[in-house]
Amino acid sequence: MEEEEEKKINLKECESINCEKCNSIYFKEVIYIKTVPKEMIKGATEDQTVPFPIYKCDECGHINEGFNPFE
Ligand SMILES: [Zn+2]
Repeated sequence: MEEEEEKKINLKECESINCEKCNSIYFKEVIYIKTVPKEMIKGATEDQTVPFPIYKCDECGHINEGFNPFE
């Protein structure tokens, strides 16, 4: 029983991520889409789209550094 208690994560004690610009704690998920040219994919006949979900501030729209892996 005691071991199970230790594994529980209390999210209230975990650090929240704030917007770097306006300090808001609310984010929304947006999808960032990359096109991979067919030349880069073996056997592909068409370009492929690859979606990446990223999070932007719901208040000011800012994307925190590190949230977008391509910038
Ligand atoms: Zn913000």
